[in-house]
Amino acid sequence: MGKEIVFDNVRKKYKDIEIIPNMNFRVEPGERLILLGPSGCGKSTILRMIAGFEFVTEGEIRLDGQVVNDVPSGKRNIAMVFQNYALYPHMTVLQNITYGLKANKVPLTEIENRVDLALDIVELKGYENRKPHELSGGQRQRVALARAIVKKCEYLLLDEPLSNLDAKLRVSARKHLLNIHEKFGQTFIYVTHDQIEAMTLGQKIVLINEGEIQMFDTPEHIYNRPANVFTAQFIGSPPMSVIEARYENGKMYFGNQEYQLDQQWVDFLKNYTKKTILFGIRPEHLEISVSYMDNSLVGVVNYIETQGKDYGVYLQLNNHEVVALSERKNWTVGGEKYIRPMQTELHLFDPDSRLNLGYPETMTSRYDR
Ligand code: ADP
Ligand code: MG
Repeated sequence: MGKEIVFDNVRKKYKDIEIIPNMNFRVEPGERLILLGPSGCGKSTILRMIAGFEFVTEGEIRLDGQVVNDVPSGKRNIAMVFQNYALYPHMTVLQNITYGLKANKVPLTEIENRVDLALDIVELKGYENRKPHELSGGQRQRVALARAIVKKCEYLLLDEPLSNLDAKLRVSARKHLLNIHEKFGQTFIYVTHDQIEAMTLGQKIVLINEGEIQMFDTPEHIYNRPANVFTAQFIGSPPMSVIEARYENGKMYFGNQEYQLDQQWVDFLKNYTKKTILFGIRPEHLEISVSYMDNSLVGVVNYIETQGKDYGVYLQLNNHEVVALSERKNWTVGGEKYIRPMQTELHLFDPDSRLNLGYPETMTSRYDR
């Protein structure tokens, strides 16, 4: 069973470049946490500090309550899977999986038992005697996973382990990962820049940008109750449209166009009269129609993209672009269309802090714990 991980005012600098200014979080014992963020935001650095491959500049990392800043990597009870999973090319699958255990003098019957179970979980029974060059990319990745599992560590750290696989293999690899976590219950930290992977694998997600935590919460809250504009736009595809509006007399003004808000929003916004607000709406919550709808806005279609079942329709609304999802396929560029945000699906943000303003009481109950 996995143990707790705590970051307590952790700071990381490479020479004089600050990568992580100040980071605080706690991972519950046995929790499956996803570290999500754009390339270069510091994900691998965080993982490598936990594993003990990088020093902490300031602050403390605690594993199971013990400060590990000066504990060598090999003594941290951690298994790690890297993006470039580097199997030994001259060794068979079996040798690749077991060499670490043999080096650590684990008894032979114990090794056999662990390998048996690991091969079963990653579905590689029968491949024991193959060399890495006789395997597909997906199979090699599973060997790397098996090698991490047999260590039987309390912490399993994975750094973009599926990014070399094609989309279909990724889906089945996710299933293997969930299986591993269910069987062993390690504290599981999984790094990815892929929001789909984060949403499907995470019990919790910590979203990072430029070394700072943007939000640490469940996938459901991150999607439905984003703490700020960055979170709102990082998750979801096409991304949420967030545009400037002016609030007055119960209406949102987009240039000279107006949109009447429901009473619940009017009550909520009573202190925002004549203020600028960032108005956010997800594409699936922006109704679009060729014919007039009550309380709708007018946008001009800029372009259309196919999303499989749906079409992303990008429209110019005064100075801003917004995107709507529609099942209807024969949209034409240039035409004026009617668009209407769903009142129960709005997200409003402060233009300076870019933080979420919150939601009317009637809406909060849906996602609040
Ligand atoms: P991510 O994994 O999120 O893509 P990294 O943690 O690898 O990001 O890197 C975060 C930042 O730290 C990047 O700007 C990267 O260039 C920088 N960086 C990473 N490793 C080193 C290093 N050893 N020396 C100096 N800068 C580094
Ligand atoms: Mg990385």
